Amino acid sequence: RKDVLRLTTGSNNLDSLLGGGLETQSITEFFGEFGSGKTQIMHQLAVNCTMPEEKGGFNSDVLIIDTENTFRPERIIQMSKYRELDSDEVLRRIHVARAYNSHHQILLGEKASEMAKEYNAKLLIVDSLTSHFRSEYMGRGSLSERQQLLNRHMHDLLRFGTLQNAVIAVTNQVAARPDVFFGDPTAPIGGNIVGHTATFRIYLRKGKAGKRIARLIDSPYLPEGEAVIQVSEDGIID
Ligand code: ADP
Ligand code: MG
Repeated sequence: RKDVLRLTTGSNNLDSLLGGGLETQSITEFFGEFGSGKTQIMHQLAVNCTMPEEKGGFNSDVLIIDTENTFRPERIIQMSKYRELDSDEVLRRIHVARAYNSHHQILLGEKASEMAKEYNAKLLIVDSLTSHFRSEYMGRGSLSERQQLLNRHMHDLLRFGTLQNAVIAVTNQVAARPDVFFGDPTAPIGGNIVGHTATFRIYLRKGKAGKRIARLIDSPYLPEGEAVIQVSEDGIID
């Protein structure tokens, strides 16, 4: 595809696994258990997006749809300092919208394209993509409705990515499962509700001493593989 750009994750290891960073015009899904580092990576991507192109950023604004109230400006400040960025300026460029339920989240997704023009954002984050849907559509009978709404929502996000030549990064919490390391991590874990609208899927699991192992799954053209990253006070590093 033409004009595809790449956003650095902050980790050279993870960037290499992804062929240079997160692609624009695609959805990249980070999934893993609670505490695996999904939200930390979203914060780091937001900071990186504001950096100049020669440092792996887009020199642009960021939109975040925050469904779990886990956005922390303090973390943005810490990560900005480590990268020698003006943290006030970085915070000014990150626009956070709380989504109070799945319906609100869908509306924000639709609105994103309009908002993007205002801010020229080249990164859209949804953290978490699935939490509201999971809690609101629990019964067996509502599964197909949930799936349908989520699919439509993801297509709205993708449209934003195409219009703006932007990166779309989403998170999806899944339960820990021991056989995930040997079997197929994309197999339903209490129902895999994102399915295959995401182009790139990265499975995160905890390693020792702040380390996380990121595994690329089902990529259309990159080999499967793993990268070790660190979640630290300074952010996402090798
Ligand atoms: P989730 O996948 O549930 O979104 P998070 O991204 O919130 O997980 O990761 C939480 C983890 O990130 C914490 O358990 C801790 O290991 C790490 N972390 C968070 N803040 C800091 C910090 N200031 N310094 C070092 N590590 C941190
Ligand atoms: Mg989180």
